[in-house]
Amino acid sequence: MSGPGQYLSDVTQGVTRPEDLPKAKVIQRSHNFPHRPCPFCGKSCFRNRTGERILHDVGDLVAGRPRDIHIVYSQHRCTHCRKYFNADMSDYALPKAHYTHRVVALAVRLVVEDGLPY
Ligand SMILES: [Zn+2]
Repeated sequence: MSGPGQYLSDVTQGVTRPEDLPKAKVIQRSHNFPHRPCPFCGKSCFRNRTGERILHDVGDLVAGRPRDIHIVYSQHRCTHCRKYFNADMSDYALPKAHYTHRVVALAVRLVVEDGLPY
């Protein structure tokens, strides 16, 4: 059983090529909906197409395996506002981010706790 103070070998030790790092565990998620309310006017809007987004997440820190969350999401078009918008994914990450909220929170905590410069 592992715990604080117990020595665990670093699985990334000696690895110089990114492709040799422990593989991320892939998690499938769906934010694919036939209709979503327009964020500007509230009108219910049909799905226009779907997309896929990959978010890097904190996974098993002991085994050194991160998680990659593959999210299939719907994109919608509001015929009233003539705007496109995606199904809300703010529960996972900020718009356009490649990392989840959990990764960002952990990174910020590490910088603050170790007194590293931003
Ligand atoms: Zn609208």
